[in-house]
Amino acid sequence: MSDETLANLSHEERRFEPPQDLADHANVTAEAYDEADRDRIAFWEKAAERLSWDTRWDTVLDWDDAPFAKWFVGGKLNVAHNCVDRHVADGKGDKVAFHWVGEPDDDTRDITYGELKDSVCQAANALVDLGVEKGDRVAIYMPMIPETVVAMLACARIGAPHTVVFGGFSSSALRDRIQDCDARVVITADGGYRRGAPAALKPAVDEAVSQCPDVRSVLVVRRTGQDVEWTDGRDVWWHDVVEGASTEHTAEAFESEHPLYVMYTSGTTGKPKGILHTTGGYLVGTSYTHWAVFDLKPETDIFWTAADIGWVTGHSYIVYGPLANGATSVMYEGTPDTPHKGRWWEIIEKYGVTILYCAPTAIRTFMKWGKEIPARADLSSLRLLGSVGEPINPEAYIWYRENIGGNRCPVMDTWWQTETGQLMISPLPGVTAGKPGSAMKALPGISAEVVDDEGEPVGNGRGGYLVLTEPWPAMLRTLWGDDERFKETYWQRFEKQGYYFAGDGAKLDDDGDIWLLGRVDDVMNVSGHRLSTTEIESALVSHPRVAEAAVVGAKDEQTGQAVNAFVILRESALEGGEEAPDDLIKELRDHVAKEIGAIAKPKSILVVPELPKTRSGKIMRRLLKDVAENRDVGDVTTLADSGVMDQISEGISSGK
Ligand code: ATP
Ligand code: MG
Repeated sequence: MSDETLANLSHEERRFEPPQDLADHANVTAEAYDEADRDRIAFWEKAAERLSWDTRWDTVLDWDDAPFAKWFVGGKLNVAHNCVDRHVADGKGDKVAFHWVGEPDDDTRDITYGELKDSVCQAANALVDLGVEKGDRVAIYMPMIPETVVAMLACARIGAPHTVVFGGFSSSALRDRIQDCDARVVITADGGYRRGAPAALKPAVDEAVSQCPDVRSVLVVRRTGQDVEWTDGRDVWWHDVVEGASTEHTAEAFESEHPLYVMYTSGTTGKPKGILHTTGGYLVGTSYTHWAVFDLKPETDIFWTAADIGWVTGHSYIVYGPLANGATSVMYEGTPDTPHKGRWWEIIEKYGVTILYCAPTAIRTFMKWGKEIPARADLSSLRLLGSVGEPINPEAYIWYRENIGGNRCPVMDTWWQTETGQLMISPLPGVTAGKPGSAMKALPGISAEVVDDEGEPVGNGRGGYLVLTEPWPAMLRTLWGDDERFKETYWQRFEKQGYYFAGDGAKLDDDGDIWLLGRVDDVMNVSGHRLSTTEIESALVSHPRVAEAAVVGAKDEQTGQAVNAFVILRESALEGGEEAPDDLIKELRDHVAKEIGAIAKPKSILVVPELPKTRSGKIMRRLLKDVAENRDVGDVTTLADSGVMDQISEGISSGK
């Protein structure tokens, strides 16, 4: 038996120093780590000064009732005031908050902070007229349009926690979330544009709400103009009740711990959990990290988080963090390949985007499409790149750096979760010499550790469980309506030490830098060696013909578990419909053995056209494991395209 919690297989020698110019003018220097180490509480207290408080807090952190945290106790503030009104009051009313880009060509709108303030006040007044009171929950099921941001901020303004449900989810997923948090009002649209055509939203709301008797109003934005069914007395048009409302609304200050929103996790590992975020700490954590990790210069940067608002990434880094910092952001409604595969690069060129933040799944898709496509656009405005959602394979990091970042932009690999609310582990752009594939270090003010089964630090060069050892401002406060499940899910595993257990495996390299190794539930045990999915996937992706890979451990008589791999080839590697030749499979197996060792050599490799992914683009390995072990596949409700599983199963049964 291996005595390691997780084997440490891959080695990476490449290093990228911060660009000199960026380092010279960086918002945050190495001093921040020392400052936070000296006094973590004072560090966060200083970060809280970034916001405008109606009443100052008297206690920074109350951890007496751990794991139920209270931050900035006694303080009062209004989130919408902080994100919008105060910038207008500072004379920035004409500054663009969002360059919004609709999916249809030329369907664009620039929204200034002044306009945003008017719209948010109108929507707040309309919600009040619909009877929404402080503490009532509002569900938001919308496409990526400016009204979605307005709706969220209007809820925040009146103290009504929102729950944003991704517009791609089915009516049953919407119904479950409305019921779980007992929302009384739903804000939606007739539809949105997706892959070149209007996609309806309202029918799903009608179906969901038919099973939610407590929903009394449905507020509908007209986006596509498609026909909708109408329920009089319940349904109201946004343009009737919002656009006619007063642009004056006095924002009330709420307790720092007042609930801001409930967000359901991606559901990569199972049933989504309703994560509760509150007001003061959340806004401190998101605004500080947005400013520090992206080195945001609000006067000159054009920031773009290319993600959906329906995920936490959209909440923290499209809406709350950037607006709290008075940033100018791009927001894009559609898919990267509509009307052509160069759409993102065209947007970057047009608006002079300086900071791009997206997911490895997108980067690997661009790798698959080929570097000629971004090469056609002028991407010279970019100065910093970010990645979030999954471990970024070293090869994808290098591709991103070279082909998008022109070898001049540092790459911030940011580890965090719906639960953490804010970025937790990441390089700092003016400080850290980046290593492809490593998220590097806990940010200043954050304490992370890699521990073994007993909760003891594993030490450099070893793998184990990633834990957070101290509370942080934007941490989840509980699971909505279920304190017990909150304690069990996150705090029971290392109860003795009082650590938050994130569910992810990680290793420390010889310098003590952190490498995320995937979910501990996905760890494979091959002949007594505990292997991570990430390292083997990254080894496969480092082969020039592979664009994406997913690895699972399937039951095996000889070795306990065997490594089963599923790969997508780069577009230039195979002609359409051509079968992967046996010698390529052999070459890939040998490549893994050479890169990280014979123990990790996949027993089977299946070439597939697509991988099962959640709608936030994360690979759902549990479904591949079902396939590899010949079981019926489990819950697919958060899968982006359920047809993918049929294609994969067919590939298996035909013995390829
Ligand atoms: P569920 O908890 O319902 O299974 P989920 O964990 O996929 O869903 P999210 O909160 O959206 O839902 O994702 C957080 C997870 O994403 C992390 O726990 C981690 O596994 C992965 N992740 C996010 N960023 C990174 C990163 N930079 N490197 C490695 N993994 C990451
Ligand atoms: Mg999770």
